[in-house]
Order: sequence, then structure tokens, then C-alpha cells
Amino acid sequence: MFGNYINGEWISTGATFENRNPANIGEVVGAFVKGTAADIDAAAAAASAAFPAWSATSGPARGNILYKAADILDKNFESVAADMTREEGKTLPEAKGEVRRAINIFRYFAGEGSRLPGMLVPSERDRVHMFALRKPIGVVGLITPWNFPSAIPAWKLAPALICGNTVVLKPASAAPLSAWRIVEALHQAGIPKGVVNFVAGSGGELGGALVNAAGLKAVSFTGSCEIGSWLHAHASRRHLRIQLEMGGKNPTIVLADADFNSAVENVVNAAFFSTGQKCTATSRAIVEDAIYDKFVAAVVERTRKLKVGDGMQPGIDIGPCVDQSQMETVLRYIEIGRKECGEPACGGRRLTEGALANGYFVEPTVFAGVAEAHTIAREEIFGPVLAILRASGFEDAMRIANAIPFGLSSSIQTTNLSRAFEFIYRAEAGLLTVNLPSAGVEYQLPFGGTKDSSFGPKEQGPAALEFYSDYKTVYLKY
Ligand code: NAP
Repeated sequence: MFGNYINGEWISTGATFENRNPANIGEVVGAFVKGTAADIDAAAAAASAAFPAWSATSGPARGNILYKAADILDKNFESVAADMTREEGKTLPEAKGEVRRAINIFRYFAGEGSRLPGMLVPSERDRVHMFALRKPIGVVGLITPWNFPSAIPAWKLAPALICGNTVVLKPASAAPLSAWRIVEALHQAGIPKGVVNFVAGSGGELGGALVNAAGLKAVSFTGSCEIGSWLHAHASRRHLRIQLEMGGKNPTIVLADADFNSAVENVVNAAFFSTGQKCTATSRAIVEDAIYDKFVAAVVERTRKLKVGDGMQPGIDIGPCVDQSQMETVLRYIEIGRKECGEPACGGRRLTEGALANGYFVEPTVFAGVAEAHTIAREEIFGPVLAILRASGFEDAMRIANAIPFGLSSSIQTTNLSRAFEFIYRAEAGLLTVNLPSAGVEYQLPFGGTKDSSFGPKEQGPAALEFYSDYKTVYLKY
């Protein structure tokens, strides 16, 4: 039984819900206490009470606790990664990569505690010293999705805490254990009571309580556009500071001058690894006419070699969809694709052979001949489905890439430096890659999208401090 964590105590009473292994749905990964609105209120009250002392603690001292939590996660590295594979379905090597990233994020922001840069500039006036101090904002609500169940809680918790805020974390119900393990590490590292609070349970039930909680000053959310918009509307009524990272429909442009083999590899990697359940996954490949047929054939050949199965087993490339509802969404979009653009070039089925029958496995699916107007070229599917569109040339490819409301990540495969720079300046997305997969970012630079994919300051890197802190500007005559 995994309890909630409120005011430094593990609360293990109350109704529970289970998370199950999507590769083997008979296996219960954990039973979690189902938080209530009253738990959210208690967590926010504890966070409010803890704020004065935590915000007055020095940055380096706060950093020491984050370093300790990172060391504890490192010590538990193997089991935390295995928990992630069991609850989310991504392969064990992918889970290990994510846990390593969460540890690195904690260390990165722990170091930030010794910097927390303010501003010092010369005054126009004689003998006036002017500067701006960075200060925390107060109690912050953090709402996270299931697809990066360790890294996303880490990249919200670590900057929030190092800036001196106190938090209430609501993890995704499909994968709460990975976030729980981070909170466990913070507890063992000696985080003072009330500074971090964790309440698992249904977002639909807890979301309203969180945005209305007394003392709350800000909300950072990662998840779907629909829930993000709802939160934005409700948080704005109270003038809460808000940060939203939401969906994408990310393009990879493949030009005829690209290094062909690496372009194929990058597109297949970005479309299918982690079962396509990455916000930065490529779901549209936009391929120049001159190489279109050859590219489709090569992507299909490569995709057919991907091994789908339980991510705990060695040699598996693609795990299951995270749960039944996500799998049904993917299968529904595949049916829409069939109706709109014909049989997929490969894949297109749920896999139920042998042990796969116990999980939510879908074949990696490639649709060729997709037109811009087709639903699978416009809507986020969040699964292993790739739509390949044809472009007459670079200009047409840029137009297609930008002609959607999303703007999370965008990629180009080309050996032409001018085209690469044209792309960099004109692509309407917050995260760009050149000759790399569209997914696969690091934590040292700002992360986030543009257009309907995101709202508010960026996450990660030095930019993360802008959301989790404010300035106090001082003019001093001496
Ligand atoms: P989701 O359904 O929007 O859920 C995200 C979180 O919001 C979960 O913790 C969920 O709780 C909670 N929630 C649900 N209803 C709520 C409400 N009314 N008020 C407050 N919170 C509520 O998204 P998801 O299915 O977990 O994640 C997939 C989506 O996340 C995709 O669209 C993907 O693109 C996006 N994503 C974006 C980024 C990015 O950085 N841009 C990164 C990763 C994922 P429950 O789990 O209990 O429902």
C-alpha cells in the first residue's frame, strides 16, 4: 500500500486504487490511497505552514537536500527503473535513461541553490545602488502525466523547491509509483515536514480542490490540451501563476539531400520508441517528393523489425500502451486512418499472440499517402502511429509542418546548412532538432512549446527559475 504524503507523514488510510502493469494486466504494481479534496486542502495547509521556514532556508542548504535525494534515487536506481517499466510499460533501458535524467535534474537544480541569480545594474542616479533579488512565490500545485512519470515530477519539483517554494504534487493515476519513489527519496533526504506533499487520486476529483486550495499561488501542469485549458480558466479567476505543457503533433521534415539511412532511423526512433507516448514524438513525417516512395519503403522495412513486448524482457524495442483507454484511443485513430487513407503500409492491429494477450500492445503502424486534411495528420494520437505526408519541396514541407495549431517539437533531416537555418528560424515550435529524432531532449536548456502546445514560462534549464520565482527590485541611496 502506497500512502499519500502530507505534512511529513505517510497517510495510509482510506479507499485505494490500483495501478497495473500494462504489459501484464493481471499484475498489480501497487495499491495507492485515493486522495480526496480534504487531503488536497490538508496538503495545501501544510505547504502554507512550511513556506516561511523553507523560503528562509539558504539556497545552498536547500540544495544539499536535493543532492541527498538524488543520491538516494541513485542508490535505488535499479528498482526505481523497474517500477517505472512495470507501471508505465516503457522498456527497461528507456526507464533507466529516464531515472538517470531525474537524478541529473535534481543535481542540476541542487547546484542552482548556490547561484539563484538576481540582477545588478548601474543606476542613472548618483550614489544609487539598484538590484533585483530573486524570491520564491509560495505554495505551488504540480500536476503531472503518466508518460514520463519520473522525469516530469523531477523537473517540476527540483526547481520549485530550490527557489524556496513548497509544493503539492498530484501525479497521474496510471503511473503514480515513479513519482512516489521521488517523494520517498526527498523524505529520506530530510526535507522538512510540509515542504513536499503528495496526493494521488483522480485528477477529475482533485483538480478543482487544488486550483481552489487556500494559499495556492501557482500551478504547473503537464498533460492534455483539454485539461490544461480547463485549469487555465479556473486558475485565472484567482490570478494564479500558471504554466501549461500540453499536446503536440510533431513533424519531421525529410529532404531529398538528407543522410537517408540516419533519417529513416531518426523518424522510426521518434515515432515508435516509448510506444509513441512522448509529447515530442514524431507523428508526421513530411517527405520530399523525390525520395518519398523509397523513404516509405525503408521506414516500413525498419518498422517491421521492431520487437514489441514486455519492456522488462531484453531485446524489446516497444512496450505496451499505458492502459486500456489509451490503447482504445490508438486503435480508434487507426480505424479513422483506414477509412480516410486506406490500409496502413504496416501494422494496424492490436497484438494478442501468446503472452501479448495479457497486455495493451499495438503494432507500430505506418500510414503512407496521408493528406494534410486527414484526421491522423491533424490530431494528437499519442501512440505508435506514424503518418507520412508528401511535400513537393522544402517550402511546401515548411508550410505543412507549420499549418497546425500545435507547436511543441519539430525536426528536419537535411545536409543543406542553409535549409537547416531556414528551418530553425521559421519552424513554429519550441523544440527543434536537426538530423536527430524530434524526441530526446536534455535538461540543461529551456523545454516547452509554442502555439496551442504550451502556455507560460518554459521548464528546465535556467529558464525554469522564471516560473518558480519572482523578483524584488531594490533602489538604495548611499
Ligand atoms: P491528462 O489526461 O491531461 O492528465 C494529466 C494530469 O492531469 C494527470 O495527473 C491527471 O490526473 C490530471 N487531471 C485530469 N483531470 C484533471 C482536472 N480536471 N484538473 C486537474 N488535473 C486533472 O494527460 P495524460 O493523458 O496524463 O498525458 C498525455 C498528454 O500529456 C498528451 O497530450 C501529451 O502530449 C501531454 N504531454 C505533454 C508534455 C509536454 O511537455 N508538453 C509532456 C508529456 C505529456 P489522472 O491521471 O488522475 O486523470
